[in-house]
Amino acid sequence: MTTKSKPSDPRAGWLALARELESHLLHLREEGATEVEADPVQVRRLAEPPVFPPPAAEGAPETADSLAAIAREVDACARCPLHSTRTRTVPGQGSTAPEIMFIGEGPGADEDQQGLAFVGRAGQLLTKIIEAMGFTRDQVFIGNIVKCRPPGNRVPMPEEMQTCLPFLRRQIALLKPKVIVALGATAVKGLLDVQSGITRLRGQWMSYEGIDLMPTFHPAYLLRNPSGKKDVWEDMKAVLARLGREPPPRK
Ligand code: SF4
Repeated sequence: MTTKSKPSDPRAGWLALARELESHLLHLREEGATEVEADPVQVRRLAEPPVFPPPAAEGAPETADSLAAIAREVDACARCPLHSTRTRTVPGQGSTAPEIMFIGEGPGADEDQQGLAFVGRAGQLLTKIIEAMGFTRDQVFIGNIVKCRPPGNRVPMPEEMQTCLPFLRRQIALLKPKVIVALGATAVKGLLDVQSGITRLRGQWMSYEGIDLMPTFHPAYLLRNPSGKKDVWEDMKAVLARLGREPPPRK
């Protein structure tokens, strides 16, 4: 006879980890430590409210985290003020096994209406970039730092970004892309807590949780400043090279 073990509660694991960390820090203080070296990105993540999938119903099979579960949670989310002005949530869409994940800042007006990331004018330009690289939109994943439109397309507030980021982090953990392309300074700031401007950062390889990350200009910036397109293409050629690919012949 086999016995079925009860699905473990992820909250219990997180609380146990938090208690272990607290007790370790208290121990260090008792030992006389006055400072502890720590990665600022990891420290910031500890301060984020953890997001857990809804508990499985009694008797239901245990399911791993999934993009669909994240999208459902995003749909019901009212954790930051952006929920009150959104029309639709925009969790992001694309391949479930992408080599590349493109991450922007947040939904605009068209995205807010359709519930899809990068479908306005900037999205059309992103599609051209993706296709010039030899992919289709369905072969990559496209998402944003925040999943609801900031009113008037303003930059999301730091606290809105921090509240929403656990959704994106879970998506990245599930999708395991080989490369992340961070579109614009807000995407880099959200993922890596790096404050520099995108002009300085673009084209320089960075790393998010061991995944190669290439910062480049946001397509909306390129619509206003077309001269930046050649820089973005250089960055995308570097991405292709990192994937062991070459740009397809131009049509
Ligand atoms: Fe929730 Fe993110 Fe939307 Fe804020 S932006 S309400 S955290 S889904």
